[in-house]
Parts: sequence; structure tokens; C-alpha cells
Amino acid sequence: MPSPSPSGPPVLPISEHEDEIVAAVEANPVIVVIGETGSGKSTQLSQILHRRGYTRRGAIAVTQPRRVAAVSVSRRVAQELGVSIGEEVGYAIRFEDRTSEKTKIKYLTDGVLLRESLSNPELKQYSVIILDEAHERSLNTDILLGLMKRLIKHRASDLKVLITSATLDGLKVSNFFSGCPVLNIPGTIFPVEKFYSTDRPTNYIESSLRTAIDIHVKEAPGDVLIFMTGKDDIDKMVSKLEERIQNLEEGSCMDALVLPLHGSLPPEQQVRVFSPAPPNCRRFIVATNVAETSLTVDGVVFVVDCGYVKQRQYNPSTGMYSLDVVEISRVQADQRAGRAGRTRPGKCYRLYPSSIYQKEFLEATIPEIQRTSLAGSVLYLKSLNLPDIDILKFDFLDPPSRESLEDALRQLYLIDAIDESGQITDVGRLMAELPLDPSLSRTLIEANELGCLSQALTVAAVLSAEITLRQTRNKDMEGKRKRQELSDGSGWGDHVQLLQIFESWDQADYDPRWCSEHDLQVRGMKFSKDVRNQLSQIIQKIAKVQQICKQGEDGRVTLTTEN
Ligand code: ADP
Ligand code: MG
Repeated sequence: MPSPSPSGPPVLPISEHEDEIVAAVEANPVIVVIGETGSGKSTQLSQILHRRGYTRRGAIAVTQPRRVAAVSVSRRVAQELGVSIGEEVGYAIRFEDRTSEKTKIKYLTDGVLLRESLSNPELKQYSVIILDEAHERSLNTDILLGLMKRLIKHRASDLKVLITSATLDGLKVSNFFSGCPVLNIPGTIFPVEKFYSTDRPTNYIESSLRTAIDIHVKEAPGDVLIFMTGKDDIDKMVSKLEERIQNLEEGSCMDALVLPLHGSLPPEQQVRVFSPAPPNCRRFIVATNVAETSLTVDGVVFVVDCGYVKQRQYNPSTGMYSLDVVEISRVQADQRAGRAGRTRPGKCYRLYPSSIYQKEFLEATIPEIQRTSLAGSVLYLKSLNLPDIDILKFDFLDPPSRESLEDALRQLYLIDAIDESGQITDVGRLMAELPLDPSLSRTLIEANELGCLSQALTVAAVLSAEITLRQTRNKDMEGKRKRQELSDGSGWGDHVQLLQIFESWDQADYDPRWCSEHDLQVRGMKFSKDVRNQLSQIIQKIAKVQQICKQGEDGRVTLTTEN
């Protein structure tokens, strides 16, 4: 496998098919590109089209379902082109925009592209839109697929759409886009030998740990990729693995380096996995399913697969979400195993019996659209004001059930976002402007009327920053105790505690040292503060528009500006 040279882009399977890809793009408004994970879809396609002049009339947008991928891939492309992030190459994720007037290749989450199309439905700033990682079947990408179908009719002459995927059923997408071409980019994958456990382990962390140590002691050089379900598992695994490696007899095996990989790592720690192992050293990468298809870590020869993934599920009867550890699908298991065979034959240790793989695992992961609340998406579609869009008949690749659409309409009605006839209300329009879940948007609007917008903004900001505030792997008991003292423990629940923490930080003039002293992550706290500012600005902007519209009226939805 050719390795990336510092002077130019690496030669990846995608690059070897440059002419074929460009010819297909030239001749068709939409194409589907299928290629193995690591073949260069995310990093090379945009560069190819940029080189071939597609950025003369507009920029190239590349969507990613995961924020971590948008950030990491754009950094890589900027590096390959020798530019700083935010110049010709940039990224935009919720609450963080690193693009400028100069940006020609823009990586963005699918959610951000949806928001952009709210104010600019034709997405005129783009000459090319690449919906990357379509196999993830995120709700937002699914909605974008439907919107692209409309858009290519309106912009037949000046927009190219590419849909890329590692595993997606190309034919299905092709049929959705009236038989558009599907390019299959062959990649080299080496055979991967699979080993199954005889039983399901009672503790998959312990079992992964043992397997990892076994590999380290017995196997030839090569990095180990360990799939865990989330940040907490990963932190635990990393510290236990380091401990056990240290306890191995000195000189009995090669050096080891243990690296975590998940979405809430600071960017400088995320990129560590992309530097090759030092000589005579084996790397252990302990990752969430971001390493399944979104991020390719080179050098992996061994994979340890616990067979689980963390998934957000929606329960329509309670209207609540839960984050559950669930079994992966066979497609996911095969993707995980495939990570071991990128550079040479590899081995995959599946910590479950083959009968479970065969009989219990679903064939493929259920698309998010079929297991999530559609309230946000339905509100979004309604706020687009497209005359020809009937929500119940929207063109979806896999339509959600009628019940879940009706549930969404009911939820929206309950929070006054739509009226009895299903029309979006003024409140609903306000809500759609905020980059938040409808219920949080509604909370802010209500809080404004009750005179507690400032407090609600803080809580909404912390909740939507989706970042941990607590220090991790920190044995600082004093800090922990100090943090607990901040909230008075009067049984008000998490939200009020978060608020109390922030208000104390405010009183400390947002001193970063204050965070450390209270066992709080400076980065997480600062980001939440930044998110709060952004939300506050959006609300002020909306309020100004509202005031102009509502002059003289008894404006129930008029927002007072907060300072
Ligand atoms: P695909 O999207 O087809 O899965 P990518 O374009 O993401 O493939 O990856 C192509 C190559 O670029 C891989 O070898 C991968 O390791 C490398 N790569 C991707 N992102 C980075 C990064 N941030 N730093 C270093 N290498 C990277
Ligand atoms: Mg990719």
C-alpha cells in the first residue's frame, strides 16, 4: 500500500480511477461511488474535482454524518494541499465554522448542510455536493438524499451530486436517482482470519483486555484496533491496558503505545492515531465505531471486536431517548474485521460465538430514520416552505413508518410548532431557526416569556455542546469535592446543577484555573460558553426580525433581547 508522501497526495485506489470518475461526473448530474473504507473517497474525491476545475463556479461541499470525521478529514486535505485550515479547505460543524471567503473545499456535517439550505434552498454557493458515508444512513443524510433529488431538477445545468459509500447497496440508491451510474472502485483487501469466542463474555472490557494482551505477547508486529462502545469504556480500557502492559515481564515483548479514539477527544489527540508507530512498538487503538468506516487508521493488523455499539434509540410511547448498548449488525462486524486487512493479511477476534453472528445479528443496521424521533426533521421540512412537499409523502430512500411521522406531527403540535391543520406556526418558525432539538428551542422561547432566558440559554448550551465537563482520568478528589459543593444538592436535578456550576464560573470571571480547581475540563467549559454566545446571538437576531414584523401587535412570540 503506497504511503502518503509529504509532498503530495497519496496514491489511493480512488486516485487511480480519476479519469473514469471525472468522465462520469461530467456526463451525469448524480453518481454513486462505492469503495472500500480507506480507498480515498473522503480525502481524494473533493481534491480531484477541485483540480479538474469544478471549483471555478462554486465550492465543493462534502458532508459527513460525524463531526469528528468532518474535522479530521478536512485537516488531512488541508495538509495534503499545503494550506491552513479555514483557507481553501475548511470545515463547518454545529457551533464551529472554520471556513472563509477563500474556502473551495468545505467539509461539513449533514446537519449543517440542511441548515444552510434553510436560508439558501438552492445551495447556489456549491457547484458540487458530495454526500459522503451514505451507508451510515444517518437521518440527516437520508433527508439530504431526498432534497438532492429535487435540487438536481432545479439546477440541472450547474450542480453535480456524488453519493459515496463503503457498503451501501449502490443499486438501491441508483434506482432512487432514476438509474444514475454506480462506480465501483476496487480496492485491495487482504484476507482476514476470524476467531470466535465460544461464549458471550460476561464482561466485554475484561475479555477485550485479555485478548489484546494475548496478541501483544504472542503475535508478530502490527497494530491492534479494539472496538469499544463509548468514551467511558475507552477510558477504562486505556488505563487498564497500560497497567497490564507495564506489568508484563520486561523485555518479554515489544514496546506498546495505547491511544484512545472517539468523537469527544480534543483534535490534537485525535490526530495522534494517524502518526505511524515508532520503531519496535505496537500501537493499541481503542476506538468507538468511528474507526469502523469514518476514519481509517493505517497499520492495523489485528482487530478485537466486542460485538456491541452504543445507539441512540427513541421510544415513541414516552417521547424519550435512551442511549443503549446494542448488538452490531453483520455488515458492521464485517467492516470491523476488514480494518485488519488493509495492508497485509490480518486477524479479527470476535468476542462472540459464530452462531450469534449468524443468527442473532441483524443483516444491516436499521437506518436512523426508522428508530428516531422525526420531530426535528418534520419541522425542518415544514419550514422549508416547499409547495410540493407533503411530509407524509416525502421521497425517502427508506420511508419512516406512518406512525413515527404521525408521532412527530403530534409532538410538534404539543409544543405549538404546528397548528391543527399541520401548518407551521410563528413559534414553529422561530424554533426551526435555532440549531437545537425542537423541545430545547421551545424551552428557550418559553423561558423568554417567563423572564429566565439567560438561565435557559446556559442549560441549553451545555446540553447541546455535547461535551464532557468533568475531567477524565483525574484522581483529584479535592477538585471533585469542590465541584460537588458548587451545587447545593437540593434535589433540583442535573440541569440546575449545570446552571449553578456555570454561574459560579461566571462569578470567577471565567477564569480557566477555576475550572481545573473544580475538576472541570477547561475546554468543555469554554466551548459551552461559546455555544451559549452563539445561541444568544441567534435569538437576538430572530428577536430583531420579530420586532419588525410584529410592530404594534400583541406579540406573544416577540422575544426580548438579552444581553
Ligand atoms: P475513505 O473515505 O475511502 O474511507 P479516506 O479518504 O478517509 O478513505 O482515507 C484515505 C487515506 O488517508 C487513509 O490511508 C487514511 O489513513 C488517510 N487519512 C485520512 N485522514 C487522515 C488524517 N487526518 N491524517 C492522516 N491520514 C489520514
Ligand atoms: Mg470516508
